[in-house]
Amino acid sequence: MGGRLFLPGAVAGIPYEVVMSYPYLRPDLLVVGGGIVGLAVAREAKLRWSRARVTVLEKEPEVGLHASGRNSGVLHAGFYYSADSLKARFCREGNRRWTEFCLERGLPILRCGKLVVAQGPEELAGLAELKRRGDRNGVVLEEVDEVQAREIDPAARTWERALFSPNTASVDPLEATRALAGECRALGVEIVLGARAWGREERKLLTSSGTFEPGFLINAAGLYADKLAQLYGFGRDFEILPFKGLYLYGTPPRLRPRVHIYPVPKLSRPWLGVHFTVTVRGEVKIGPTATPAFWRENYQGWQNFRLREALEILGTEALLFLRNDFQFREIAWEELRKYLRPVLVRQAAKLVRGTPMDSFRVWGRPGIRAQLVHREHREMVMDFVLEGDGSSLHILNAVSPAFTCAFPFAEYVVDRVEELWRSGAPARFLQGEG
Ligand SMILES: Cc1cc2nc3c(=O)[nH]c(=O)nc-3n(C[C@H](O)[C@H](O)[C@H](O)COP(=O)(O)OP(=O)(O)OC[C@H]3O[C@@H](n4cnc5c(N)ncnc54)[C@H](O)[C@@H]3O)c2cc1C
Repeated sequence: MGGRLFLPGAVAGIPYEVVMSYPYLRPDLLVVGGGIVGLAVAREAKLRWSRARVTVLEKEPEVGLHASGRNSGVLHAGFYYSADSLKARFCREGNRRWTEFCLERGLPILRCGKLVVAQGPEELAGLAELKRRGDRNGVVLEEVDEVQAREIDPAARTWERALFSPNTASVDPLEATRALAGECRALGVEIVLGARAWGREERKLLTSSGTFEPGFLINAAGLYADKLAQLYGFGRDFEILPFKGLYLYGTPPRLRPRVHIYPVPKLSRPWLGVHFTVTVRGEVKIGPTATPAFWRENYQGWQNFRLREALEILGTEALLFLRNDFQFREIAWEELRKYLRPVLVRQAAKLVRGTPMDSFRVWGRPGIRAQLVHREHREMVMDFVLEGDGSSLHILNAVSPAFTCAFPFAEYVVDRVEELWRSGAPARFLQGEG
């Protein structure tokens, strides 16, 4: 079978012809990773280049089995992030696009809003900084006093002031990811499940389902994105460190939070602190923690244990602990204690007034953050990072709120692919320089 392929380059008037015997092993665009980011990128590419062959490769038997299906499911509004970041650029619009996507398709969405509460006078400056960031990012955010906060949610406890974000919402992240996969398939994207990428020879990607020879490769491999990037000579300054998020579910008989209730976060850390989330099904959960994990998919027991990987990660964690880079000792101590239910419950209880906490007893499915660490700078990277050249592009640090950002972030990624493709010559770039 032979034929003319219409690669992204064809948009720029560069026809690309190959003879194919196994079309799906020779896609124009191969996206590694069937999480929300990979699927959103594949959808965007197919919408833009309808005649291109777009394939998504996923090592699991289903899409969304890692971070995308195991997160808090919160559509963030976009006020945490400094205005110059990609997170700020995409979050507000991402929230709007997910809301539209769910409403149009009848997917569950709870538009309950969120209160950020202060636990003492020392946190008021943090609240003011969030308000400043929200204003710069064009996010609707209301400053309320204690009485107004209680009117919004009688369960909330705050010190003098709080912030109310009316646009923060909840979705079912696994259902949303599956819906996006369905839409990709309907558009003609091939999703190959149970195919793990493990090696590379020139332009060929070696996988457990055969050798793929893509026109262009996009790496959206989440917890393994650094490893895949390194096969292509990228991501060398970085390493992914897994941080586990545990959740506790409860059904308090009275004063059950009806909006999300969050603390003022430490803005030096890329996570938001233990909070109350109301799910689309009306359940209430507290968490997530940010506990250093010992291997990348270290969800429970010895599940997905890999000795070499564990030794590598434990080695890095031991070094971070000794040097106390980015206050790792404090993080490890604070977070490991939250494995104890009473510690986690005590922390969450500070955000509410009169909510019986005894009922928070059922541990939910944990999720693991693929947090990027810069080896030389010895710090956690706060924003999304892209690196690539004329044949591949690597998405690193797709941490929260990458789920919320998925649609506009995917457009940005595909724009970068188009630029790289047009430039022809291998070009290395980092976030913001593209
Ligand atoms: C505890 C927690 C809470 C969070 N809460 C929120 C929230 O409320 N709101 C929000 O916006 N964001 C949240 N996030 C962040 C959000 O979940 C992630 O940013 C997003 O899911 C990242 O999507 P992804 O597609 O990059 O990664 P993933 O969903 O991890 O997808 C990557 C995929 O790549 C596959 N893969 C990996 N290696 C290979 C390989 N070699 N070959 C083939 N396939 C491979 C994996 O199996 C996986 O399916 C949270 C994250 C966590 C962990």
